[in-house]
Amino acid sequence: MESRLTPYQAAPLIDCTAALVFAPHPDDETLGCGGLLAACHVAGIPTHAIIVTSGDFGEHGKVGSAAREAETRAAADVLGIGTVQFWREPDRGVACDERTIAAARQAILDTNADLILAPSFHEIHPDHRATAWIVIEATRRLAEEGRNLRLAMYEVGAPLHRVDVLVDITAHESAKRAAVAKYVSQLSIQPYDAVIFSLNHYRTYTLPASVKYAEAFCILDADVLKDPARITEAELLRQERLGLVTVGMPEWLKEAGLTGAGLTGEGLKGAGVKEGSLLDRLWRRKK
Ligand SMILES: [Zn+2]
Repeated sequence: MESRLTPYQAAPLIDCTAALVFAPHPDDETLGCGGLLAACHVAGIPTHAIIVTSGDFGEHGKVGSAAREAETRAAADVLGIGTVQFWREPDRGVACDERTIAAARQAILDTNADLILAPSFHEIHPDHRATAWIVIEATRRLAEEGRNLRLAMYEVGAPLHRVDVLVDITAHESAKRAAVAKYVSQLSIQPYDAVIFSLNHYRTYTLPASVKYAEAFCILDADVLKDPARITEAELLRQERLGLVTVGMPEWLKEAGLTGAGLTGEGLKGAGVKEGSLLDRLWRRKK
């Protein structure tokens, strides 16, 4: 039963012909999916990276954008990333708009990638969430146009709520550690290597003990991308779809589970929340 909720087997990588990772800041590509990128490189799969901002804001940016970009180039060399492009969008000011969505779309077409990697929309940092929505919308449009691609959301600042694939990165531990070590300016602020490898170790919770580190991904394939309700599907609704809803669950909780992510009056109605139900009343009170 629970294997429908999270994988109990690790994958060696996510199958694709080319992978393109979108990183909101220099280091997110390495922290979020450096192990997978190393695995792709070993398997002969070309990988590419787009670094959306050069991370020159605040304490993290005090070394300047040139130094941060140099760290990324060094990490990309370790991981075998084929091309790195810097968009130089404003750090802490990434906008999800037609311009950035069009740029993401073009990058996917230029690299011919069929595996697109981006942070999840559950992330904490605004640039991470903005990048997630830019890439979701760009891939959604390409899926609508009939392109067969998959978006895999990775985790950095917030653990994924939903995990579809766990990639065994045990064999790529040293490559990922060496790549993270290139981010000297960031490691002087926080021991990101220890932090991220703790998360990667925790992700082996449901895996055989031989797996020491795993990277988690939430997959939005072309079918899901073409059905926006599935992109932000509420956990309770998903469990119902998978046949895992607890028997005897109170009615109000079932109704609440149907609301998905959009807590708006119309959204509530559209999601099937009955007028006068507990959630409907709560929402009206808040207004
Ligand atoms: Zn970041």
